[in-house]
Amino acid sequence: MPVLLCDLDDTLFDHEGATRDALEHLRAVHQVLTQWSLDELDQRHRVLLEAIHLDVLNGRLSIEEARRERFGRLLSQAGMDDPAATATLAAAYREAYASHWQPVPGATEFLRVVRAAGHAIVIVTNNGVAEQQLKLVRCGFDVLVDAMVTSEEAGVSKPARGIFDQALARAGSTPGDAVMLGDAWNADVEGARAIGVAPVWFNRARRPSPDPTVTELVSLAPAAEALAVVTRAALVPRSAS
Ligand SMILES: [Mg+2]
Repeated sequence: MPVLLCDLDDTLFDHEGATRDALEHLRAVHQVLTQWSLDELDQRHRVLLEAIHLDVLNGRLSIEEARRERFGRLLSQAGMDDPAATATLAAAYREAYASHWQPVPGATEFLRVVRAAGHAIVIVTNNGVAEQQLKLVRCGFDVLVDAMVTSEEAGVSKPARGIFDQALARAGSTPGDAVMLGDAWNADVEGARAIGVAPVWFNRARRPSPDPTVTELVSLAPAAEALAVVTRAALVPRSAS
């Protein structure tokens, strides 16, 4: 496996943790959100984020516009339609979210070990380049990876073939020489195997696997064990469809 293609959000960067921390902070400050438990708020926010993020990926909304739209709809669900409150909440969320940015546990050491073993690392991620670059720098990943391809630059999002092709081109590699590690079953696992790249499903939450023949990794630590799992996945016979 000369090349590791790797997702960013919720594989290396702890988006879920930062989101939950930010929502917990908002709930402590904004009374209107306390009508829901943190779990329910997290769930409602997640559903809105995933739906509205599609408009970011296709270029219809900026990340800032998407955030305002999300909190407008969340407040509306709470029985409040107030553009000023929406703007306040969206700004407060962004500040809290960014202040809780952190790597997924073990991610930094994992990247170091993969690199030390001589593998190139290319991040493949569905988001804007500015936002993802900022995450790389803030988490210290920028000095550990060789390249990053975002859906914004690629013009298409995972699971589309084009973004993987660009990542392989950046590494000067072919599908048979690469492994794709990511947490999203459709985007990462299905996207990779459709073009003959060996997938590894990063399953931190230990959810039931849609296909147990796909290699699973439940933790990036210890790094040497995680690397062994990823390296073995490269040896599983596969065919491009
Ligand atoms: Mg992800």
